[in-house]
Amino acid sequence: MKYPEVKNYINGEFVSCTNQRIDVDSPLTGEIISTVPLSLYSDVDLAVKAALNAFPAWSGMTSKMRSQILYTYRQIVEQNVESLAAVIHDENGKTMDEAIAEVRKSIELTEFACSIPQIAVGDVLEVSLGVECRSEYAPLGVVACINPFNFPHMVPHWTVPNAIALGNCIVLKPSELTPVTAMKMAEMLKQAGLPDGVFNIVNGAKDVVEAICDHPDIKAVSFVGSTPVAQIVYRRATSNLKRCLALGGAKNHLIVLPDANLELSASDIAASMCGSAGQRCMAASVMIAVGNVNPIIEQLCVEVKKYIPGKKMPPIISKLSRQKLVNYITEAENSGARLLVDGRKFSNDEIVDANGYYLGPTIIDWRNSGAQMPSEEVFGPVFEIIAAKSVEEALAIQHESPFGNAASAFTQNGAIAKMVAQNASAGMIGINIGVPVPREPFSFGGWNASKFGAGDITGASSLGFWSQLKKVTSKWAKQEITDWMS
Ligand code: NAD
Repeated sequence: MKYPEVKNYINGEFVSCTNQRIDVDSPLTGEIISTVPLSLYSDVDLAVKAALNAFPAWSGMTSKMRSQILYTYRQIVEQNVESLAAVIHDENGKTMDEAIAEVRKSIELTEFACSIPQIAVGDVLEVSLGVECRSEYAPLGVVACINPFNFPHMVPHWTVPNAIALGNCIVLKPSELTPVTAMKMAEMLKQAGLPDGVFNIVNGAKDVVEAICDHPDIKAVSFVGSTPVAQIVYRRATSNLKRCLALGGAKNHLIVLPDANLELSASDIAASMCGSAGQRCMAASVMIAVGNVNPIIEQLCVEVKKYIPGKKMPPIISKLSRQKLVNYITEAENSGARLLVDGRKFSNDEIVDANGYYLGPTIIDWRNSGAQMPSEEVFGPVFEIIAAKSVEEALAIQHESPFGNAASAFTQNGAIAKMVAQNASAGMIGINIGVPVPREPFSFGGWNASKFGAGDITGASSLGFWSQLKKVTSKWAKQEITDWMS
């Protein structure tokens, strides 16, 4: 196997778990590159105990002392961008360029956490004569984050740096499909001088997630993954009286008008739908064509063909996920939708490994099909087109989607762009941008079935999630003048 077996990371040590192990295969070749343990409640309990032990000393440090360790960590990641990206490439399948961009994003997220001493400073005010109120950010204690496969390095950096910078100790659960990257993260945090027990990893699947939701000493849980699991986690964690922020799936609508810039729109939409093989919660999923936008659609078909599987286009994460996508395309075709580009057919055997899980870009045109596009998330390089007669109708269609992660407008008309931004029911809006990810210090988070819980997962909004405010009100007797020398 290319990588050693994945271990849990508890109290600064990689530890074996005696329970069952499953294979980790590379979507690039189908080859088994490692194995990962399916840990149990007892493993989560060990990690929580280590975190509880580390908490008094870690939370007792000043926030500036904690951020110094994150500065060092940031430098270590910077020095290892390529080697980290190679691991992400192997286990997730994304291209090296995409993996490098992911690690660079983790660096930006860490930089935000380094600035927490400048942001989370609290307040002070003399609220009546001689009476002072002061508020300060206090950590929660032991917290946990549960992660998806599609960004094995960046998504943990949405949560871990901010949570620990604020003084919490954390238990991370990676996706069992992409667990190797998290081990690298542990090694680099240790190298940066993070005290043992502040950061812990428990690998596995459903049992670990349930243990995290149930463990009485875990105070807050963040989750990123599909909507059905986000709902399960949110319900279970909050019924156990924990704080929970659970980010779910998406089906992002792009409202495209005839006046949109042809070249820029087509290349931007192609990049959005094909990047990471469409396995991004911010990927372009649906075009609502307002009026005649056929020239843009024709250009889009040209652009997506540049995303050659195995070259610019990575594989799908698993054989099963690839088959689900193929089934979706076949059902759409059988319902009368037209395939403008059919990703089931591509021939470049000299580039891709025959055992990799590749699928080409696919464009499904539902206009004139007489059938309705399903509202479910597709999560692959599959882009769907539906029609609207007006921007109002397009917005009404967008509102019918259960999700609300991102929505975009493609137009040169500022008033229409503003109308879409104001009225779309989504947390992140793009104007002529297919992947409208807000960059730091702005926060990341969707609406509706794309997020359960209050606030966003990154940026200033996340500070409230990973901390609690302590308010101190003080009054002192008037000081008599004392001559201490007499
Ligand atoms: P997933 O929901 O299958 O898995 C996410 C995590 O939940 C994993 O750690 C997994 O082990 C665990 N899990 C899976 N099934 C479970 C169950 N029945 N009970 C308890 N835990 C369970 O998601 P995925 O396939 O890893 O990731 C892709 C999904 O994540 C897509 O839906 C995508 O839109 C979403 N996503 C959303 C965002 C966002 O910001 N909203 C970001 C990235 C990914």
